[in-house]
Amino acid sequence: MQSRRTFIRNLALAIPAYSFAGVLLSSCGTNEKQLKKSKLKIGVIGAGISGLHAAWLLQNEYGYEVEILEASDKIGGRIQSVHDIFGMGSAELGANEIYGQNHDWYKAVQAQAITKPVSNNSNFFSEGVGYSQADMAQNSDYQSMESRLEQMSQTVGSDISVEMYMNQVQVPQKVQFIFKSKSEQMLGTSIDRASILYNSSEGLGKIIETKYKSGISFDEVILRKYQSILPNVLNNTQVTEIDYSGEKVKVTDHLQVAREYDQIIVTVPLSVLKLTSSQAYGIKFHPSLPESKLRAMDGLGMDSGVRIIVQTNKSFWNNESESLFVNGKIGKYDIVKSDIQNNRYLLAATVHGENADILNNMSESEILRLIQAEWKEQIGEEASKSILKHQVVYWGKTPFIQGSFSYHKVGGSNNSRAELAKTIENKVFFAGEACNTSNNSGTIHGAIETAIETVKSIHRLQS
Ligand SMILES: Cc1cc2nc3c(=O)[nH]c(=O)nc-3n(C[C@H](O)[C@H](O)[C@H](O)COP(=O)(O)OP(=O)(O)OC[C@H]3O[C@@H](n4cnc5c(N)ncnc54)[C@H](O)[C@@H]3O)c2cc1C
Repeated sequence: MQSRRTFIRNLALAIPAYSFAGVLLSSCGTNEKQLKKSKLKIGVIGAGISGLHAAWLLQNEYGYEVEILEASDKIGGRIQSVHDIFGMGSAELGANEIYGQNHDWYKAVQAQAITKPVSNNSNFFSEGVGYSQADMAQNSDYQSMESRLEQMSQTVGSDISVEMYMNQVQVPQKVQFIFKSKSEQMLGTSIDRASILYNSSEGLGKIIETKYKSGISFDEVILRKYQSILPNVLNNTQVTEIDYSGEKVKVTDHLQVAREYDQIIVTVPLSVLKLTSSQAYGIKFHPSLPESKLRAMDGLGMDSGVRIIVQTNKSFWNNESESLFVNGKIGKYDIVKSDIQNNRYLLAATVHGENADILNNMSESEILRLIQAEWKEQIGEEASKSILKHQVVYWGKTPFIQGSFSYHKVGGSNNSRAELAKTIENKVFFAGEACNTSNNSGTIHGAIETAIETVKSIHRLQS
C-alpha cells in the first residue's frame, strides 16, 4: 500500500511545475543563470535535508548530473510530518522548530508561510503544585537555575559532563528537573552523557537563538523547495557497500545493484555511519573508513529519541503558555494546538538520552500509563484523566535513522566533527547535521550548511 508520504510526494510530482514557479524562482533564482552542464555524475546517499539540498544545488546551481539513493520509502529523513493527527490537522513527528532566522531553512519556510517566534512562557508542575511563568519570575531558585543555564554557554576549561557542572554550580534541587529538561532539549541527550564544552566554547548556536514555529508543515516546505530534484531520488534503495578503491566510486545497494559515480556525498545519520557492515543498516566501506574518522565518531554520540504526541480534553495551563515542564521522565511538553471551542488540545514531548532509552523499551500503552502516573503525581488527578489519544515515534528504532541527533560526548569536540566531515581521496564526501562545525549540529539549518560546504568543495575541485 502507498504510504501517506509517498502519496503526498506523488501528488506533488503530479502538480505541474508552474504551480511552484514563484517559490522556485524566489528561492534559487537559477533560471537566470547559464548552467554549464558538467560531465561528472555525483551520487548522494540519503534524501534527508542535507542530501536533498546538496543534490538540488549540484543540479540547479552547477549543472551536475545527480542521483539520490534513499533507503526508505520517504524523503526528508528526520523531518517527517503527519497531516491529520487525531482530527486536529498537521504535526511534526521529527524536527519541529526553526532555530534563528539567519539561514536558508528559515528563508525557505518564510517563503511559503508565516513564522512565529516561540515564547519562553511555560507552566511548571512538581509534586502536585503548578507554577506559572510569573510565579517563577519571583522564585530565586528558578532565577539562579536560569543564570546557571546561561553561564553554561560561557564555560571554558576542562571537559566535564553537564550533570557534573549542574552539581558544581549547585543548581537548587527543586528546579533541577527544569535545568535537566531544558538542557536535554538542546543537547539531544541527558546531562550525564553530554560534554559541558558542547554548550560552551564550541557550543550550540541554538542555545541563544529565538525559536520559530511555522504555519506550514515541514514536509510541504521540502516538497516545494526541492521539487525539481525529487525525480532524481531512488527510494527503497539501501546502500550496503561503498567501494572507492578504483577511479570511480562503486555503490552497491541491498539488491546487489551496483552504480558508479565520479564522486559521492554520504549523508546518512551518524548512528548509521557508526554501525559495522555486519549490523542491520550498516554500510561496508572498501577500503575501510580511515582510523582517524572512526576515532572521531567515538567522540560523538547519537541516542534514541522518542517523540510523544498526546491529545487532551482539558487545558491545565495558562492561555499564554507554550510549554509545560513536568517533574518526571517526560520533562517537557510543547502545546502544539488548542481547539478551545471543542476542548481538544495537542501536546508533544521529545525525550532524549537516558530516559529515551527507557521509553524505547516500552510499548505505546506502557508509555501512556507512565504519562498518566506522572501527571497524577505532579499535576493532579484531573490532568491524568484528560488524555484522549496518543502516538509515539521511536526515532532510535526507526530504520535507517536509529537516533535523534548528534552531541559531543565528554572528550568529543568540534575537531571530531571536522574529522568526520573530511573528504576521502577527493571522492567520498560527507555531509549531514553531525558534520556541522559552526555550532549548528543537530539542526535542520546546520545540516543544510554542511550540504552547501560540501557542494562548494566538490565544485572547487573541478575549477
Ligand atoms: C525528534 C527530533 C526532533 C528534532 N527537532 C529539531 C528542531 O526542532 N529543529 C531543528 O532544526 N532540528 C531538529 N532535529 C534535528 C534535525 O531533524 C536534523 O538535524 C536534520 O533533519 C538532519 O538532516 P540530515 O540530512 O543530516 O540527516 P537525515 O534527515 O537523518 O537524513 C539521512 C537520510 O539517509 C537515509 N539513509 C540512511 N541509511 C541509508 C543507506 N544505507 N542508504 C541510503 N539512504 C540511507 C535515511 O533514511 C535518511 O533519509 C530534530 C530531530 C529529531 C529526531
